[in-house]
Parts: sequence; C-alpha cells; structure tokens
Amino acid sequence: MVELKNSLYNTAAPSTQSIHGDDHLHATSEVSTPISVSTTFAYNKKEITANNYGLDQRYIYSRSGTPILTKVEATLSTLSEGYAVIYGSGLTAAFSVLVEQRPKKIALGSGYFGIKNVIEQYQRLVPNVQVVGLDCSYNDVDIVWLESPINPTGEVRDISSYALRAHAAGALLVVDATLAPPPLSYPFRQGADIVVHSATKFLGGHSDLLAGVVVSRAPKSAESMRVARSVLGTGPGSLDAWLLLRSLRTLSVRVQNQSQTATRLVAFLESHRRLAVVSACHSPSVQELAIGRRITAVRHASLQLSTTHCSFIETQHPNGYAPVFSIRFATKDQALFVARHLQLHTFATSLGSVESLVDWRHGIDSKEDPGLLRISVGLENFDDLANDWSKTLLALDAHEKGSAKL
Ligand SMILES: *Cc1c(COP(=O)(O)O)cnc(C)c1O
Repeated sequence: MVELKNSLYNTAAPSTQSIHGDDHLHATSEVSTPISVSTTFAYNKKEITANNYGLDQRYIYSRSGTPILTKVEATLSTLSEGYAVIYGSGLTAAFSVLVEQRPKKIALGSGYFGIKNVIEQYQRLVPNVQVVGLDCSYNDVDIVWLESPINPTGEVRDISSYALRAHAAGALLVVDATLAPPPLSYPFRQGADIVVHSATKFLGGHSDLLAGVVVSRAPKSAESMRVARSVLGTGPGSLDAWLLLRSLRTLSVRVQNQSQTATRLVAFLESHRRLAVVSACHSPSVQELAIGRRITAVRHASLQLSTTHCSFIETQHPNGYAPVFSIRFATKDQALFVARHLQLHTFATSLGSVESLVDWRHGIDSKEDPGLLRISVGLENFDDLANDWSKTLLALDAHEKGSAKL
C-alpha cells in the first residue's frame, strides 16, 4: 500500500504542501493531473491468477477509489496534519463520522443547521440517541461536536477548552472547521480528535463542486472509514474530485487573501457602526454617519479579540480568521434591501468561493435572526468591496428616510 502522506513535506509551508503533497503519486509526465472519468481499471494480465484476482491491484472499480481521489487525500492529509477521507458532500462526511463512531449521546453546539438534520437521520438508525447542548455536563457523552468558526457569524470557540472537557469525560472532540481550513486553523493542535470540512466551501473555492472531508488523527480510523466509503460509494464523482485537486493548489493564497480582506471589511463596517453610536474623536461627516447608522451589529472573530477571555483566538488562527462574517440590521426588510442592492456580493447561499456572497440565513434556517446577513468574502479588491458597501448602506439610509416621511 502506497503511503498516503508525503512525509517529505510534513514541515513545508502550507502553500508548498498544497502543490507538492501528492508528488509521490504522479503516475504520468503530465504536469497537471489528467482528468479521468473511468469507472473501471484493467487487470494486469501478466500477474492476475485465480488466487489473487484483482487483489494486488490498487484500482479496480471507482466506487472503491481512483488515482485522483488518492491524490486529493494525500494533499489534504499533508495539509491538515492528519489522515483525510473524501466524501460526496460535507454532510455525508458528517454522517459517516456518526456511523463510524456510533455515539449514544452527542453534545452539539450552535452552527450550520444541516448537522441537526444529519443527526436526525442517524437517530432513525440508532434509536434513543440523546443530544445535549455544548455547555451542558458531558456525563456519558461520546462525541462533542463543535463548530469553530461558527456559521454564520465567523466567530470562534476555544477548541482547547472543549478538548479538555471532552477528554476528561472520555468523549471524542469533532471540530467542523469548514469556515477556516488550513492554513487558517489546525484544530488537531488544540486537541481535536476528528476534523470535518465541507469541501464545497473554501477547499473547493469556486462554487463548482460538492464534496466533504473527514480528517482523523488516527490512520486506522481513516482506513476503516475508507472501507465503509468503498462499500457504499459515498465518495465524490471523478470530475468533482479532479476539480477539488485543482482547487487545493491555490488554497493557501486564496484563503489568506480572503481572510485579510474580510478582516478589513469588518473593521470598516464596525468603525462606521460605532461612529453612529459613540461620539468619535473627529466629527464624522454626514455621509460617514449615514453609512453606519442602520447597522445594529457586526460579528466576526476579529471583533471578539477586544473581549478579555479571547486570547486563545490568536493561537487558534495563526494565519488569519474566517473570511466569513455577519452583519445585522433592525428588520428583515432592511437586511433584504441590502442583500438585493449589493452589486459585487452575489445574493446566493453557500460560502468560501472566489466571488463574494451575501445570504439571508433566516430564509433557510428559521431560527436565525431575520435581520442578519452572512457575508462570505471572495477575492475581489478590498476598496471595490468597501465601495459596494458604502453605496448600498447610503441607499438604505436614504430609503429609510424616504419611508419615514411617507
Ligand atoms: C456547508 C456546510 C456544511 C455542509 O456541507 P455540504 O458540502 O453542503 O454538505 C457543513 N458544515 C458547515 C459549517 C457548512 O458551512
């Protein structure tokens, strides 16, 4: 069996790992891995006998693996400091963790609503599974399921403290780190046992593929999950796997750039919000006041830093925060006005892509605040995005003044 991880690059920088993590698996002279959609692989006529029928062949049938999938797993294993197994979606990855671990009691925090649906599906298979809150007692808890950064706010939780609590209770800590893939965060360093990602988001990064990843610290657990995936065919299709490999090459530069732009945009919006409520050292112009006046809150990891208990954030995010934040308005009409008026932020769900996206989460998850918008920052220029916000927020202010007069 070929070693999945390329130990040569264990200590290389993430940008190098994402380009060379699978060098040892290059089988042809093509510099870019060839696209292959073959579902079946020819037997080696010289070596095959009745006793070893296909057994010593690495690839036989695509349900159990393809060369491209192995390359994706090698690259991601090297990048994420664990053993990666790829699935057809983020939620298939999450479901596979539950089936592998068979928890009877799960502690679940806030975050992406789809995880609750996955747990409901799991409860249909395994009756009497209990779900408790993340901050409840971990008595008899088998799995602590933590999302950090949290969808939709981009705020973070202290992974180390949950790891300590989970391990003291004999539970595993699973971290959904979709909003901050490497090199933005490395949850194993804070004690996570399993990391999951929706690869549809930043790992894919171009809104053109659906996939998920489970990264285990233990190679055995990854191998056992890979066997189950082969039996069920829960891996991604060949074209999606190829697109994912293509995307991983630029992961590091994409997400660090997106993270910087997002953090600047958050500072820009938050400073305008504060001008409107706090008396500033300089007298803000009428226009500056109008930009910030309708924002009721901005939420992001960079704004948690000002609170005293958040010194862990810097350690958890050595190369930047999630390129996702949320902004809140007083009413759903204001939020929808903004979502419709932004021009460089496409009004669509999902996150993590090269284009900036704005989503009204209440429309999808009725428990979410109706005045809240989730912003996923893409690779556009900061000034252009900030201008888009200024224009939109000025239009909102004018619109609100107009309706007040009616
Ligand atoms: C999108 C998302 C998922 C689900 O991933 P899919 O690829 O859509 O199945 C899981 N967790 C988080 C935090 C997400 O944002």
